[in-house]
Amino acid sequence: MDIILAGTAGFCFGVNRAIRMVEDCLDNNKGKRIYSHGQVIHNKQVIEDLQGKGLKVIEDIDRVDEGILIIRAHGISPAIYEQIKKKNVEAVDTTCPFVKKIHIKVKERSCEGCKIVIAGDRNHPEVIGIMGWDKDAVVVGSEQEAQELELSGKVCVVAQTTLSKEKWDDICGIIKQKVNDAEFCNTICSATSERQKEAREIAGKVDAMIVIGDPGSSNTRKLYEISRKYCENTFLIENKEQLEKILETEKVFLYRTQDGRLGTDIKVGVTAGASTPDRIIKEVIGRMSEENKQVEEMSFEELFENSMRVIHDGEVVKGKIIGVTGKEIFVDLGYKADGIIPLEELSDAPEEKLLDKYKAGDEIEVYILKVNDGEGNALIISKDGTRFPKPLNQVR
Ligand code: SF4
Repeated sequence: MDIILAGTAGFCFGVNRAIRMVEDCLDNNKGKRIYSHGQVIHNKQVIEDLQGKGLKVIEDIDRVDEGILIIRAHGISPAIYEQIKKKNVEAVDTTCPFVKKIHIKVKERSCEGCKIVIAGDRNHPEVIGIMGWDKDAVVVGSEQEAQELELSGKVCVVAQTTLSKEKWDDICGIIKQKVNDAEFCNTICSATSERQKEAREIAGKVDAMIVIGDPGSSNTRKLYEISRKYCENTFLIENKEQLEKILETEKVFLYRTQDGRLGTDIKVGVTAGASTPDRIIKEVIGRMSEENKQVEEMSFEELFENSMRVIHDGEVVKGKIIGVTGKEIFVDLGYKADGIIPLEELSDAPEEKLLDKYKAGDEIEVYILKVNDGEGNALIISKDGTRFPKPLNQVR
């Protein structure tokens, strides 16, 4: 197994800066109450580490009357800045400078009378913060919403920093057709676009792709969506423990490719979201390398055995018919033994009907009665509860 790790995986500049600021604040202010307004960054494990060092995460600023309040890397609205000022607490502002630039741009253009359009997710904290810098700003989250926009006069379009370049281009293309006087400020962060580009390139040439990060993080979810587009065996995991589950249940992707190659010539790509710490990436890569070593040490027979699907009694699985006789159907389930459906499991109909209804190559859904019938490798299977199972390509 070849492991290809994206050079852009892990903390970006903005996240690194924010975490350093919080850690310095915690180290230098022992004994003081230190709060963060929401999660400083989107990674549960990092936040838990910071909470272990004394950080208290709160959603409502009214709960803070003393101590230090940390402003999250995603940024906030001017109204929240005002609220903090009135509290008379010390503020540590970790807003990423790239997000700050968007706030300034929106404020300036709004004062000049431009209609502000934000391309992004209206429920994401970064977009909620940006919206606060112009009370009339509108958010478009999709091409459909861009089509429905009613625009006139001067327009200024900005992007959520983690928006995909494809979506930005599509939304801008639609707005261009609606107004003549539009300024398109591509505020997608370069760290994001480079990370997405690299994920696209790696996913296009590997057999499986692992994306490490918190599913709550927008840039991690985008990396997953992009990778999935180019590599259907893409998995989103938060840590080494979740990798273990994949190694257990998805062996087929790590030991054998769909075109039948086995073991060491398999390529697995790895990337990670901007808020995934190096420690977690290292743990995942370490576990994969360990698995790699075990795979390299396996004999061909062991490798083949491990590449087989794991099935259990009572499961409903899809398979492909490989043979039909008057008395039974043979089905390839990707399991080490083929499945057999005896005639009595299929119907009470005359024998000739079996050959009429089923043919080799048809996909079929089957119910596993018994993984091993006790006589070697034969496997007894039947359709889930009902008789006369239809091949899947006839059902569609
Ligand atoms: S992804 Fe870009 S905008 Fe977001 S925190 Fe990192 S550097 Fe800042």
